[in-house]
Amino acid sequence: MLLAQLADRARDVDQAGIATLLVGGDEAAAIYQRRIDRGARELGIASRPERLPADASFGQVVGKLAELDVDPEISGILVLRPLPSHLPEARILRAIPPHKDVEAQHPENAGLLALGTPRFVPSTPAAAFVMLDSYMRETGREVETAYDGVDLVVVGRSNNVGKPAAILGLARNATVISCHRHTADAGRLAEHTLLADILIVAVGVPGLITGEMVRPGAIVVDVGINPVTEPDGSVRLVGDVDLDSTIAVAEAVSPVPGGVGPITDAWVLHNAILAAQRSAGAARHADGTHLIETLGRFGVLRP
Ligand code: NAD
Repeated sequence: MLLAQLADRARDVDQAGIATLLVGGDEAAAIYQRRIDRGARELGIASRPERLPADASFGQVVGKLAELDVDPEISGILVLRPLPSHLPEARILRAIPPHKDVEAQHPENAGLLALGTPRFVPSTPAAAFVMLDSYMRETGREVETAYDGVDLVVVGRSNNVGKPAAILGLARNATVISCHRHTADAGRLAEHTLLADILIVAVGVPGLITGEMVRPGAIVVDVGINPVTEPDGSVRLVGDVDLDSTIAVAEAVSPVPGGVGPITDAWVLHNAILAAQRSAGAARHADGTHLIETLGRFGVLRP
């Protein structure tokens, strides 16, 4: 549904296309690559799911990125993680052409985001705020002021999710607390999460956050996607938030599966379209305002 709503935007640009580069055979990354490929096809933009073997050299990876840099059909490039351990991740991210770097992985784009002037906003933290902004509107709050001075606690500080989510919170004038593994190791996680008016959790530990760690009336965004094997051998996806205990105290909790995930996919494609619009001279804002307008209202938070 989200993709259908992006389709009009895609029709406006001539040469939007997304390339995803998977090195090796990580199963979750391969599934993500197929989802992006399907979404791009649905939108009618070019899609190039590229694969290199697990023993690919640094030169091969950088060579592929250089090829995609000059490919006129490709406006956005996404290097899928994890990369095999023999590859120098930081050097590979520096080899992504900044104007096609739709996940803001290149230091130039990460820096622009940190300065509050993003070229691209990375998809997962963007999706968390697309959902929050939408929820604020749905509940009659003014998005422009809804975050002013509120306590936003982000659990997880990865470069792709937690850290940019904290930056986006600061940009919305929230008071931001960033928690991570060492907060938990110090036995002080709950003391911080209990302060949160808005709690964003991106850790990768099923059910880490329980109801007693959540302030009554908080809005909770669960970014985690964790496969859990049931006694009968079936696998189901759960978040980082224990839904049953949290829903009893929170104002709203986003569901897993659903919630942030599908918006993340739409956002990557949106960024590829944005990159194409820019190279055609029709610059747009990267802050997501227009995507929220495009996607409209969607009830993905579970009250
Ligand atoms: P990551 O492993 O790179 O980072 C995990 C972070 O959690 C680290 O900062 C670490 O310090 C912190 N952490 C670990 N254990 C902790 C604990 N016990 N208490 C507090 N903090 C702890 O993971 P990531 O890439 O940021 O992903 C996090 C989760 O989000 C995963 O479940 C992943 O599958 C999911 N994810 C979802 C989407 C989506 O589209 N919804 C996209 C990316 C990642």
